[in-house]
Amino acid sequence: MSLKDYQQKRDFSKTPEPVGEKEPVKSSPLIFVCQEHYATHHHFDFRLQSSDPLAPVLISWAVPKGPSLDPGVKRLAMRVEDHPKDYSGFEGEIPPGEYGAGTVSIWDKGSYQMEDFPTIEEGLAQGAFSFTLYGEKMKGRWRLVKMQGENWLLIKGKD
Ligand code: MN
Repeated sequence: MSLKDYQQKRDFSKTPEPVGEKEPVKSSPLIFVCQEHYATHHHFDFRLQSSDPLAPVLISWAVPKGPSLDPGVKRLAMRVEDHPKDYSGFEGEIPPGEYGAGTVSIWDKGSYQMEDFPTIEEGLAQGAFSFTLYGEKMKGRWRLVKMQGENWLLIKGKD
């Protein structure tokens, strides 16, 4: 897990997005965020905090249609570069010409807990894992399932 790709894509003298400095270690619950992003194509960005407390990042997926609360609906979620942990608080305008130019707002945010694996890193390696979200809109059990390459499916589980 590294922020190299994230930082290389952005000019932090122009975008108000966080640089992603190293943070002091603290044992707080793992967080998730779902941001709505009006870029070239409107989409949602779903992010789950990594479990390494020394280098916390947000493992990220772009979800073109956004999460569905219906367990019968699978939503394409494309894995994108890891983002800094403090990106979970980011809302605002990414200036024209910058990577991801457009408006970002927080659609939902809260803590999460892994279900079938102790860490998200193990879940990612297995290519399918369940987790419980404690957000305002996204609650209860969810699942991410890898299809091919960076393409995953985000599915609401049955509670
Ligand atoms: Mn985005």
